[in-house]
Amino acid sequence: MTRRQCTGEYKVKPIKQKVRELLGYPYPARIPKGVFVEQWVGISTDEFHRAKDADVKYMRNRHPLLDMSWSRADCVRYLTSLGLADTPKSSCLGCPFHGNAQWRHIRDTSPSEWADVVEFDAAIRQGNARANASGSRLLGEAFLHRSRVPLSEAPIDHVTAAERAALRISADEADVLEKGVEDGCSPWACRGDADALTRDDFGLAT
Ligand code: SF4
Repeated sequence: MTRRQCTGEYKVKPIKQKVRELLGYPYPARIPKGVFVEQWVGISTDEFHRAKDADVKYMRNRHPLLDMSWSRADCVRYLTSLGLADTPKSSCLGCPFHGNAQWRHIRDTSPSEWADVVEFDAAIRQGNARANASGSRLLGEAFLHRSRVPLSEAPIDHVTAAERAALRISADEADVLEKGVEDGCSPWACRGDADALTRDDFGLAT
């Protein structure tokens, strides 16, 4: 996994822009002390360690699921009672933490979204000018799928027990390969290493 700015670029930055607009202080206006929005973030009790404060004073994070002591199972039970049992965990379409099941789901249910992620995968091949951990160009190439094969050709079928043995991967590794990273992703609780993001990543002064 290379240096990754997705949460900062695609979530935090647009949210901050919108919040500033709603408050009436678009960047670079200074926001007066005591002016803030309250933002609700859905972190369940299973992942309470991911609950974080926003990094600016004009946003205050609340975690209603933690306030109600709701676990992921409680959420699923509630969604099921509303006929929404199939609600997937939240993530971007082209998330590099997807497992094969999620890639297959996109491929098999939404041709236009599949075309979009295949195009996105091709577009990231060279990374950007500050793509690696030390802020330099990639020495190699970037791929969305763990196999480091273009998504259109990547092995996204279910890995059989025989293939798992041939690949010499454990049952847990095969599980991640199939299901992806279990955690969901939100602006202040990204499934990746959000702590590695800097204010520079967000391109925003506070
Ligand atoms: S869902 Fe994936 S791609 Fe989207 S912000 Fe989170 S880690 Fe990045």
